[in-house]
Amino acid sequence: MKFNTKTIHGGQKIDPAFNSVMQPIYQTSTYAQKRPGVNKGFEYSRTHNPTRTALQNSFASLENAKYGVAFSSGLAAIDAIIKLLSPGDEVISTNDLYGGTFRLFTKVFEKYGVKFHFTSLHNVSDVESLINENTKVIWAETPTNPMINIFDIEALSIISKAKNLLLVVDNTFASPYLQNPINLGADIVMHSATKYLAGHSDVVLGALMLNDDKIAEKLYFIQNASGAVPGPQDCFLTLRGIKTLHVRMQRHCENAHKVANFLNNHEMVEKVYWPGLDSHKNHDVAKKQMSGFGGMLSFRIKDFNKKQTIKFLEKLHLFTLAESLGGVESLCGHPATMTHASIPVEEREKSGVTDSLIRLSVGIEDVDDLIEDLKNAFL
Ligand SMILES: *Cc1c(COP(=O)(O)O)cnc(C)c1O
Repeated sequence: MKFNTKTIHGGQKIDPAFNSVMQPIYQTSTYAQKRPGVNKGFEYSRTHNPTRTALQNSFASLENAKYGVAFSSGLAAIDAIIKLLSPGDEVISTNDLYGGTFRLFTKVFEKYGVKFHFTSLHNVSDVESLINENTKVIWAETPTNPMINIFDIEALSIISKAKNLLLVVDNTFASPYLQNPINLGADIVMHSATKYLAGHSDVVLGALMLNDDKIAEKLYFIQNASGAVPGPQDCFLTLRGIKTLHVRMQRHCENAHKVANFLNNHEMVEKVYWPGLDSHKNHDVAKKQMSGFGGMLSFRIKDFNKKQTIKFLEKLHLFTLAESLGGVESLCGHPATMTHASIPVEEREKSGVTDSLIRLSVGIEDVDDLIEDLKNAFL
C-alpha cells in the first residue's frame, strides 16, 4: 500500500457492529463480561479501547512498523521510553531539542538516576566518545526544534547497532509523510501527534512506532501500568486528522518553500533556517533522508533585540502567536521566551536560540496572504 492510501486505510478494519465506515468513538471505560474473564478482548479502557487500537494500527502503518502505541501526549510517549531504563543507565541526546523533552530528562528522570549527555549529533565521533557500558539510548530529534538542524539517521543507526543501543527518533517535525526513521535504521519512532499527525490544533496526543516484539511488550505494559492513555474522542480526532496528512503536508512544504524564499531575499533578514535552502548546513542530508523539507522554519532578523522581535510578532495577523505547530493554520513563536524558556540562557544561546530568533509553523492558507502578512510586519 502506498503512503497516500495508508493515511486513509492503513491498519483499519470496517467496524463489525454496524459496518460504519468511520471508526466509532467507543466512549466507554469498561466492557461487560459473560463470566469472569470471558470477554471480546476488551476489559477496561486503560488497557484496551477499540478506537485506540484502530489509531495504534494506523500509527504502525504510517511508519512501516509492526507496532503503534498511543499516549495521552508526546511527552507521555517519551516518558514511557525512558521508563524502559534503570538507574545508572545513560542517554546521549541532541543538545538542540524540544524544551519539554529537556525538562522531562533533566528535572524528572535525572532524579531517578538516569544520566543524560547533551551533544550535537552532527559529528558521529562526538557521539561515540560519550558511549560507555551504561549507555542505552541515543535520542535524536530531526529536524530539530527550533533550529531546524538535520541529523543523519542512517549514520547514527550504524553506531547504535554496533554498540547495541536503542536509536530513538523524534519525528514530529517531519511527520511520516516526509521521513520514516525505521527505514533508515532507527529502533523507535516518536511523534507528538498533537502536531502534524492530528493536524488541526484540537488534540494533544503522543505516538510510538517500533518493530521489536520484546520492547513493544514492555511499552504496552508501561502504557497500561503508568496509565497515560489518550481518550477515545482524542483517538478519533487523530485518526480523522491522519486521513488528510499527505494532502496537508504537500501544501505545508510548498508554502514553507515560498515563505523561506521570501525571507531569504528580504534585506532585514539575517538568516533563514529551512532544510530546503541550499544555504542550510545539512541540506544534503535532508535531501537524502527526507522526501520534502517540511513546514517549519526559523529566522533571525538583523540587529533585532528581544523587544523589537516581540513587536514584530505582535504585528503579524495571519500567523497567530502561539505555542505548538503543525496545524492547518499558520503560527509564529518566540522560542527564547516560549518553548525554550525552561532551558538555561547559556545552554539555549549555545544552540542558537537567541532573542532575535522567530519560529514559524507555515500553515496551508493561501501563501500570498501569508507573505503579505510578513511583509507588513517588517514595515
Ligand atoms: C510538541 C513536541 C513534543 C511534546 O509533545 P506533546 O504532545 O506536546 O506532549 C515533543 N517533541 C517535539 C519535537 C514537539 O514539537
